Amino acid sequence: MVSFDLFDQLAGLLAPLTEKKKPSGAVMRPAKEESEHTIALDGRRVDYKVVRRRGRRGVGLKIDGSGLTVAASLTTPISAIEGLIGQHADWVAKKLGEWSERRIVPQRWETGATIFFMGEPVTLMIDVGHRRVCVERVLSHLFVRVKTADPADVEKAVKHWLKKQALPHFAQRAFLFARLHQLTPPQVFLSSANGRWGSCNSRREVRFSWRLIKARPALIDYVVCHELAHLRHMNHSAAFWAEVRRMCPEFETLKKELDRHDHQFRAF
Ligand SMILES: [Zn+2]
Repeated sequence: MVSFDLFDQLAGLLAPLTEKKKPSGAVMRPAKEESEHTIALDGRRVDYKVVRRRGRRGVGLKIDGSGLTVAASLTTPISAIEGLIGQHADWVAKKLGEWSERRIVPQRWETGATIFFMGEPVTLMIDVGHRRVCVERVLSHLFVRVKTADPADVEKAVKHWLKKQALPHFAQRAFLFARLHQLTPPQVFLSSANGRWGSCNSRREVRFSWRLIKARPALIDYVVCHELAHLRHMNHSAAFWAEVRRMCPEFETLKKELDRHDHQFRAF
């Protein structure tokens, strides 16, 4: 989560302007108040939330997966908040853009929806009324025969198919790279980890998340080489990374690409 208190340093400047002494006898406001607002930034409508707390000094801006949140005191006027957002319009637009790119889009399980298989988009073609589930890929289409169009059944069938493709591919790449680099080929298993693409233990068992089969082959090869390098170095030392580089010379760009796109592989 990105959190950036842009205006904490301005607290001293802003607070005297906005914090007025509470008139005696006024009704006490709650210690925390939240409200929703909208502002136009460069012609674009931006929704934001204001979280007010008693005793808060200055105004803070935060942007994360749920959008722009402004932290302020109970008495900071909206005009002061909007003035500050406006002054930092470029930063706000940039951060909101980065977050919208990283947002996990929920997977649809219907005809016309796409999934990724080894880096290629594959369009789902759902065919209902079949007693036996059958999934078959023909070029860029995945024909899914199921009993009903229930999304849960389609999801189950597609996941089963992906796992069935994943294990032989990972095992074959691990075998190939192990042979190429004078390692005893490890035993390869699938895992259901969401976010950890591979792991390796001292029994020379290597596990890959089946979700990695959504990534393009070069990214899969990087993860395979990473885990094989752990057979020589059970750590992330300089010697380990030197081993990864020997097996996979482009590993740095591939690692960055995997970090940048991994949210796409986690949708289901
Ligand atoms: Zn590692």
